[in-house]
Amino acid sequence: MDEGYRVNARLALNRARDALDSGEIFRLRYAALELRMALECLVYERAQRYKEELPTKKLSTWQPKQLLNILLAIDPYADKTSTIRYGVQEAHGVPAKNMTTLGTDRMISLKEIKEYYDRLGSYLHSPTIEQTEKRKGIPDDKLRISCEDLFKVVESSLASKVWNSDLKETTSIACIDCGTKVVRRVRSTEDRYAATCMECEASYTLTRGEDGKFMWKEDGSELECVNPDCREKLFVLERDVALGKHWACRSCGGENAFALGVRFTPKALG
Ligand SMILES: [Zn+2]
Ligand SMILES: [Zn+2]
Repeated sequence: MDEGYRVNARLALNRARDALDSGEIFRLRYAALELRMALECLVYERAQRYKEELPTKKLSTWQPKQLLNILLAIDPYADKTSTIRYGVQEAHGVPAKNMTTLGTDRMISLKEIKEYYDRLGSYLHSPTIEQTEKRKGIPDDKLRISCEDLFKVVESSLASKVWNSDLKETTSIACIDCGTKVVRRVRSTEDRYAATCMECEASYTLTRGEDGKFMWKEDGSELECVNPDCREKLFVLERDVALGKHWACRSCGGENAFALGVRFTPKALG
């Protein structure tokens, strides 16, 4: 695994430390910039683990929040800190009695990205007219505190003894609508998942069968042509059940469209 991002995160963290220690209030902006870059490095590093599962275009999403959201769509544990333990099972399927801890992989969570990345970002441009009037966006003690907090978060993630552990199990299919490979990471502890095609947004429900393999079923429903003389049935993807969406009936050639409606229910008697 390429260690480049980790090395760069460490360097950015060191430069942030220098800026913070200088005591110069305007160098706080520089510290904020370096800390944001360290965060980006850690999220990009995480994304590298999903190389096989993600189209390059998606992998190159630069905003850490968006990128992490993409990762979370294929793996709900993408931003979770995990501790790796191992042991020898005495019987198959029974957890081992004696476990050795290998270490903890301290992840940057989506919550932390939301909390720090945007907040620090607001100091990296000239204050807007509104901010100037409210005396906001100007380096101050609040920025220093945010920088120090984020410094600790990045430092603890970089201190992880195990990182980039990749114990993965995946299941995939070719999207029934566009053919793109749709991949979902799965865990032995859960038998049901949702997945969405990154390309066309067709959604699927996955359930584990008795043989342990996952079955993929596209989300949607069978609808009838509204023409009373036709009633031809058609399977419509859930993605396409939306106001304004329509389909041409293959039997009568007419068009069916989803529209707003008003339903009336008479007042209950008594
Ligand atoms: Zn698709
Ligand atoms: Zn029809």
